[in-house]
Amino acid sequence: MRTHRDFQREKVYAWEGKASQAQHKGQNFRTIEECQAYLNPIWLTERGRYGRARVPAPAIERPHWGQRRAFAHADHRITLPTWCRNEWMILHEAAHRLAVRWKDVAHGPRFVGILIGLVCRHLDYDASEQMRIADEMGVRYDVRSIGSVPVHGPTWHVERVLRAHGAMTPMEIACELSIVHGHDLGQPQIRGAALQLIRGSRARWWRGKLVLVSQDGDAGQELLAA
Ligand SMILES: [Zn+2]
Repeated sequence: MRTHRDFQREKVYAWEGKASQAQHKGQNFRTIEECQAYLNPIWLTERGRYGRARVPAPAIERPHWGQRRAFAHADHRITLPTWCRNEWMILHEAAHRLAVRWKDVAHGPRFVGILIGLVCRHLDYDASEQMRIADEMGVRYDVRSIGSVPVHGPTWHVERVLRAHGAMTPMEIACELSIVHGHDLGQPQIRGAALQLIRGSRARWWRGKLVLVSQDGDAGQELLAA
């Protein structure tokens, strides 16, 4: 019944692949207990926003034999197969449990809005980018369900691209931001962001390319890998 009415489920799954940059698949947590420890503080900060102020965090449990997908059950439990034990999927299932109040379809606009809010507040994604990708893919979301999210400037975007790709020229950064992320930044903005990162000791120039200075002192390794 629910599947029948869940009109944009497949679209949401497709959107997640792009919106998460494929970070919604794979195992980042070894055990169910680690998944629970990740969820608990997030649930406490989010539940009031979605009218679930007194509701304890869902219990995360092992999947039943042969279960291939993560589920948020009507009795409030979440079950996670191994490949779903990552931050994005835990937030996805938590969003289902936060959305129940609205009696929307499972992957309806309320759910997508909540999920966008969660990944932007807790996984450092960019809300305007998430909404743009959803628009492009025809995924409907409720803007009011997103809630307040950090607004990111050019420096944040440049740092994220460098983190993903290693050393890049300002031109490469501009292309990546425009084509992949939909942000059109001019060279002065890229240079300004570079300067900010360098002043904060977060990046430096290396053979005409900007490269992040890694926190644990293995910048040399990063250069080789780039
Ligand atoms: Zn779902």
